[in-house]
Amino acid sequence: MPKAVRRKRTPPRWNRLNREIDACQKCPRLIDYCREVAHVKRRAYIHETYWGGPVSNFGDPYAELLLVGLAPGAHGANRTGRMFTGDRSGDWLYKALYKAGFANQEKSTHLQDGLQLTGCAITNICHCAPPQNKPTRDEVLTCQPWFEQLVAQLPIKVFLAFGQIAWRGVIDFMKDTDVYSGPIPKFGHGHSFNFADGRILLGSYHPSQQNTFTGRLTESMFNSIFRKANRLLDRH
Ligand code: SF4
Repeated sequence: MPKAVRRKRTPPRWNRLNREIDACQKCPRLIDYCREVAHVKRRAYIHETYWGGPVSNFGDPYAELLLVGLAPGAHGANRTGRMFTGDRSGDWLYKALYKAGFANQEKSTHLQDGLQLTGCAITNICHCAPPQNKPTRDEVLTCQPWFEQLVAQLPIKVFLAFGQIAWRGVIDFMKDTDVYSGPIPKFGHGHSFNFADGRILLGSYHPSQQNTFTGRLTESMFNSIFRKANRLLDRH
């Protein structure tokens, strides 16, 4: 269970980066789509005001574990304005994070729900919700500088990539920063890869309904990833 933790002050650079991401409009197709979804809405959320734009990073600004997802859900994070918040993927994720001691509660419903993370932060390879949940390669590359700026300010020891595209995104970043120059290591649930600079990439199936409803990803498989992350971080 999570211990009571005295929180350090949030460094200005963390807030500055998040403000810049919030204001980004570099991908017109995605910005238009986020706004359109926010305007049309899903029936269940018809009385809510959607966020409807880029979703910035969330979590501990001193994180050693960085969770890397694909993109905000159209009616999840694009509605609530926080990573993995307001949809089934988030239900799975925060329950597992709570169990592994990274979150103070297992529910994540809206921006003011009191959720806090300790030791981990969450980002996406693409900060805007894409149509069919599929950003183009160009859009992922356009968003990469936000990832680079985030990684530059965190003392990351372990990257946890949800799905193949996030896995590839971390590898591309390591290649661009000359940490790694080999082939793309094979992605798989529980696979890990050690970079020469000591950082580790860990892979997990994405907790999307496509995986959780079909049984491709079970709760125990998902929990085992966070146990492994804790071991890699020497937490417990
Ligand atoms: S996907 Fe990234 S780069 Fe493109 S508009 Fe959204 S925040 Fe900006």
